[in-house]
Amino acid sequence: MGWTMHGKCPKCEKTLSYVNVDAIDAKDGPRSWKAVSYNCPYCSSVLSVAIDPLALKADTVNEILKGLGRR
Ligand SMILES: [Zn+2]
Repeated sequence: MGWTMHGKCPKCEKTLSYVNVDAIDAKDGPRSWKAVSYNCPYCSSVLSVAIDPLALKADTVNEILKGLGRR
């Protein structure tokens, strides 16, 4: 991710000292992942979206356990 936490909002051009984080779903056809969006606190425009690394890790572990036939 090349976006810096102390950049300017590209929409309202205010300097950002923090961003709001919202939980969202990322979907690709039938598959979906937990994801987070980073929003400007001034104008609420979405600055960036990322797959939630913790949720992704949990999902990966579940897939591995399923593959081992333990669930
Ligand atoms: Zn903004």
